[in-house]
Amino acid sequence: MSTPNQPIKDVYDLHIGGEWVSSTDNERFDTVNPATEKPLAKVTAAKAADVDRAVQAARAAFPTWRDTSPDERGRIIYRIGQLVREHRDELALLESRDQGKPISQAESDIEGAARYFEYYAGAADKLEGTSVPVGPDQVDFTVREPYGVSAQITPWNFPANLFARGVAPALVAGNTTVVKPAEQTPLSSLRLVELCAEAGVPDGAINVITGFGDPAGEALSSHPDVDTITFTGSVTTGQTIMKQAADNITPVTLELGGKNPAIVFPDADLEQAADWITKAIFTNAGQVCSAADRVLVHKEIHDELVERLVDHASSYDVGPGSDDPDMGPLASEEQLGKVTQYIELGRKSNATIATGGNTLDREGYFVEPTVFTDVENNMRIAQEEIFGPVLTVIPFADKSEALELANDIDYGLVAGVFTSNVSRAHRFAQRLEAGNVYINKWFGDTNQTPFGGYKASGIGREKGLEAFDSYLQTKNIAVNLTDDSGGDLPGA
Ligand code: ADP
Repeated sequence: MSTPNQPIKDVYDLHIGGEWVSSTDNERFDTVNPATEKPLAKVTAAKAADVDRAVQAARAAFPTWRDTSPDERGRIIYRIGQLVREHRDELALLESRDQGKPISQAESDIEGAARYFEYYAGAADKLEGTSVPVGPDQVDFTVREPYGVSAQITPWNFPANLFARGVAPALVAGNTTVVKPAEQTPLSSLRLVELCAEAGVPDGAINVITGFGDPAGEALSSHPDVDTITFTGSVTTGQTIMKQAADNITPVTLELGGKNPAIVFPDADLEQAADWITKAIFTNAGQVCSAADRVLVHKEIHDELVERLVDHASSYDVGPGSDDPDMGPLASEEQLGKVTQYIELGRKSNATIATGGNTLDREGYFVEPTVFTDVENNMRIAQEEIFGPVLTVIPFADKSEALELANDIDYGLVAGVFTSNVSRAHRFAQRLEAGNVYINKWFGDTNQTPFGGYKASGIGREKGLEAFDSYLQTKNIAVNLTDDSGGDLPGA
């Protein structure tokens, strides 16, 4: 069931304090359909003064939202989930047009977004503290309190889904939010904020400001009245945000991508492994932090696995997201440039293109699903996040080399092992330096499971109940039960 489509407007303002408002200087930019290279709508380029208005609106809304009873907060958030579900087709179409992804992948993202609201809604009245036994003379307990204003800076690969991933737990915990979607894909966030208002979220509790990293993102992450920052994007931008946040001692939760190993042993079901890996690298045209970027394969089965991977990749149907092909275009011209540069780099470093490697001779930012063999782990195509449909295949001789290669990388987001040997699977799960490990599958993290990186892949965890650690701070309360006025010293 879904409601009729809301047409895309020609021009979008900012959503601040429950209203559409124009920016201080009225500057706008186009958001573009990556399958046609044609503008979809004009969007506002927020400046520091606009960001300040949004932060002040969130701050003003905070005390009331914080003090709204948890069950009422939960009901409102649950209603958002229902509205997102009811508007699934509309939101998926909007996302597919703005971001490029195949419509069925966009539908799955929207389902996931609805699930975030439903999942976290149920936790609203269960965010309990603890009672601490310190003896008979004091009652000691903890409460978990919201930070205040949560800044959400989201990327362009899963715009609606990541809006929900951050906003749902932030609001459930009693924070108010300012969301800055990526400049390439702002439309779904601008629609979601309307649905949130329809669900009963009070004015100012969610504000959406569109614009560029500089100045809008920077103004948000360096704002002294922002109390916590959640960012998903590149390592370089994450570093910049962390430095900006440092000036105000603002805590950050960072999800910064990966270069994730998929390790395949000869005892694996090779057809299943090839199937998982192709899905895991070509879904969303490879623009997925947790993609299977680096296949590490035992040399005995190297050729057989490559053959299967090539069969899968070369049968991919690539086209506009609205036709619901296997793979859509890259999300922007800039990303197409970046991916084609990496393919060129791979060629120059003497890796072999087993399949793909070309852009499509048509309008739109299309590149073929690409598999590189003869890759060495120290090559840039094996070490750097390409964020495109480019798979690198590296052979290994034995399990210790497999583990060494898997961990020989700055990133540590996810990793996968394909084997039928249970103890080997568990040994690898213990030793892989990654926040999430998949055994004989990929993308095993749901709304309920914590997700986040080791090493340069980030700080903190999103999803699951652990996400609340980014949105709640602990207060310990000590109550004297004696008539005594002294005795306790600091550090005792
Ligand atoms: P990309 O993957 O294209 O490099 P980024 O990681 O730079 O993307 O961008 C992800 C999000 O971070 C976007 O919303 C973008 O506008 C925002 N952003 C970019 N630069 C900054 C910055 N210096 N400060 C805050 N936000 C930024």
